[in-house]
Amino acid sequence: MRREELAANLLAVQSALAEAIAKSGRSQDSVRLMAVSKTHPYEAMLALCEEGQLLFGENRVQEGEGKLPPKGERPLSVNLIGHLQGNKAKKAIALFDRIDSVDSLRLARRLNDLVSVPYPILLELNTSGEAAKHGFESEDALFFALDEIATMENLRVEGLLTLGPLGGDERAIRTSFAALRRSFERARERFDLPSFFELSMGMSGDWPLAIAEGSTCVRIGTLLFGAREAP
Ligand SMILES: *Cc1c(COP(=O)(O)O)cnc(C)c1O
Repeated sequence: MRREELAANLLAVQSALAEAIAKSGRSQDSVRLMAVSKTHPYEAMLALCEEGQLLFGENRVQEGEGKLPPKGERPLSVNLIGHLQGNKAKKAIALFDRIDSVDSLRLARRLNDLVSVPYPILLELNTSGEAAKHGFESEDALFFALDEIATMENLRVEGLLTLGPLGGDERAIRTSFAALRRSFERARERFDLPSFFELSMGMSGDWPLAIAEGSTCVRIGTLLFGAREAP
């Protein structure tokens, strides 16, 4: 996609987002836009970066390794938002600024063992009950894991992530986002999590509902970069 087109898409998303945030009575700085750049080249990310977009999301370690300069040698932040296999944990830590898709106690233990300075993560909760999705399968499973994760010295749990039901109707999507928000609030009461602020929810097809339900980070791919080719 051409630069001008990317810039125009960014402007359109930014202004729709600003309007939705205002409508929900929230402050503009309470929601960040993450540009989901999977399948798109680093040049396209840089083009958006030059327009002021600094936060990106990738869903595969291997793809990220192939296209991203190392952390510290790029002008933009990139978080991992896709499922991470334990055997790629070390590479993921080296490459990504935050891992937003930690979905098991085992993976958290592994990450905690691999880092020494507190490393930021989000925990992914499956709020739609869809078996194909990753993420902790229930709030109970999440809280059971948090009992231990909240005490890990080398991990900083910054919040939660979920995916709305695919092709769900508006009510099902809202229910799923509202469930994440409630789990977020209960987790904050129950655990000692000093930097717990992020509710990552909302994608190209459902982001307005996520804003209405309290999202602090919407993950937008298609609306910025256009449709992805089938994998
Ligand atoms: C691909 C992806 C997105 C962005 O999806 P779009 O519908 O293209 O906006 C958001 N979150 C996750 C976890 C993804 O894998």
